[in-house]
Amino acid sequence: MPAKKRASPAKKRTAAPAKRRTAAAAPLAEYKRKRDFSITREPEGSPAARRSKLRYVIQKHAATRLHYDLRLELDGVMKSWAVPKGPSTDPSLKRLAIEVEDHPIEYNAFEGTIPAGQYGGGTVMVWDRGTYTYGGLEAGDPVDRLRAGYEKGDFKFFLQGERLRGSWVLVRTRRQESGKAQWLLIKHRDEYADERDVTEEYVTSVTTDRSFEEIAETG
Ligand code: MN
Repeated sequence: MPAKKRASPAKKRTAAPAKRRTAAAAPLAEYKRKRDFSITREPEGSPAARRSKLRYVIQKHAATRLHYDLRLELDGVMKSWAVPKGPSTDPSLKRLAIEVEDHPIEYNAFEGTIPAGQYGGGTVMVWDRGTYTYGGLEAGDPVDRLRAGYEKGDFKFFLQGERLRGSWVLVRTRRQESGKAQWLLIKHRDEYADERDVTEEYVTSVTTDRSFEEIAETG
């Protein structure tokens, strides 16, 4: 759908509560439906407690196409986006981010190989991890502001990762026929913005320092 479909605030207000009810009724339903946990070693996901410090991870994933999975904790799950080119710390480079199903928080620690033929089959590397907070300027409870930003499609956050830092935004641009939303991941101009190529600079696991090949060999 073109972005202008979202222009009507009245429409947005009526749509948002229905979406929240669905999500609350069956957290991680789509994630679980897509996977056979008797075959893959990915976590199944259990009810997670809410925390004030929100977790963040980026996993590099050599599936059918190489991409980076950006995951940001919100309301007990990891909101997730597949970013084909990975993040850029250069504010002039906008990176396409396709929203995918919520993942369990335990997924943050997953590194290894998803068996061929399973959903997302291929090798997963933990590329960056840390915590994040609300990154905008509006007053109020920071988690409320994050939630509102996510609903509105203007999700401002501040990363405190091991490799990535600073202020970023995800801007929703359109919804695909499938219902998947397309967003743009953009670095804000701040002291952490620069023109490095971080996906070239960091090619090993942030947790185990292993290369993709080593992960694929040892699992
Ligand atoms: Mn992925």
